[in-house]
Amino acid sequence: MRYSQLFAKTLRQAPKEADTVNHRLLTQAGFVDQVMAGVYNYLPLGLRVLRKIEAIVREEMNQVGGQEVLMAMLTPKAIWEQTGAWDKVDVLFKIQSRTEKEYALGYSQEEVVTPLVMSRTPSYKDLPVSAYQIHWKFRDELRAKSGIMRGREFFMKDMYSFHENQEDFLRFYEIVKQAYLRIYARLGLTAKVTEASGGAFSEKISYEFMVLTDAGEDDILYCEECDFCVNTEIAKVKEGDQCPKCDKGMLKLAKASEVGNVFDLGQKFGKDFDLGFADKDGNKQYPFMGCYGLGISRVMGVIVEKFNDDKGILWPKSVAPFQVHLIGLDLDDPEVKNRAEEIYDQLQDRNIEVLYDNRIDLGAGEKFKDADLIGIPYRAIISKKTGDQIELKARQESESELIDLDKLISVTNE
Ligand SMILES: [Zn+2]
Repeated sequence: MRYSQLFAKTLRQAPKEADTVNHRLLTQAGFVDQVMAGVYNYLPLGLRVLRKIEAIVREEMNQVGGQEVLMAMLTPKAIWEQTGAWDKVDVLFKIQSRTEKEYALGYSQEEVVTPLVMSRTPSYKDLPVSAYQIHWKFRDELRAKSGIMRGREFFMKDMYSFHENQEDFLRFYEIVKQAYLRIYARLGLTAKVTEASGGAFSEKISYEFMVLTDAGEDDILYCEECDFCVNTEIAKVKEGDQCPKCDKGMLKLAKASEVGNVFDLGQKFGKDFDLGFADKDGNKQYPFMGCYGLGISRVMGVIVEKFNDDKGILWPKSVAPFQVHLIGLDLDDPEVKNRAEEIYDQLQDRNIEVLYDNRIDLGAGEKFKDADLIGIPYRAIISKKTGDQIELKARQESESELIDLDKLISVTNE
């Protein structure tokens, strides 16, 4: 993409209302645009990142046998009354039509998916089933904050699984847990799994996937020796205690951001809708269900909170909007301009994603500043000085080197 044609360029100033790093950097660098508190437009650069996270999540969900669907967002009041959510869930976004009928926008969609799946799975032979979607979700937050990390409208993967019994749910939970850990690793994040209260969803335990970051909203206690990790909300241990799991490590307190969760729903939703299946003996049973959430827009915010410096964002390669930020300098010189255009074409022919700063009216300083702010993994410069070569610098490095096109292609393909 030619930067000159990108309508959403970087802003000179950070937005005044930005109180978090992700809001400030994503807005200033031209990835998102705030419509109102907790609601954002995703601009061309931001959508590329969102789509990359989405693709990784989709791949891993398909891998565990999840079947992708797209459920309705606008839903009738009756289904939420049937489960008690209409009165109990304070963040449920309720709306009224001109005929004064009431509706809700999904914040999680057990109320939609349970009738959808159970009406098509009459027998134990049809189970287990897992269905997921990647879609917008809504929460009627009193105060939306934390940039795109906690929105009134947010982009999320939600999967629901249906099982004959609790053992089968637990078996599947372990499989999804491994898939989640693979997703975070591919996103450049290290996640820990904690047990926390089930919130509005369930009387039972839920599992939370947390990434350690100073911008986090949760406090967790974790062991450095093993995978023990607990949210302080429900912890029966404290900082400095011996780890109850391995008896070796000491517990450390850290700030963390929730990047996914799993709820053990038990048989609640099948019972609420009186929708079951016939077991081996022909008796009616209610399904054991699990709900598996992963906030895609939220994870994008967490990545920015985790990977930035005083100049801007440092995107991990797996989700960067482009792999190379090609900068042409001295473009008023026809020879340099031709060479830059040629490199741009050749990189694109090799399927390398390039953002090409082809603006002729801007100096090197301003172009470098924009490149640092946007945070693409590699910056490649072509100028009078570089001659037949290309000056390459990784975003997080201070040293650059002169290389040829083949080297540039091999480095960025790694
Ligand atoms: Zn331990």
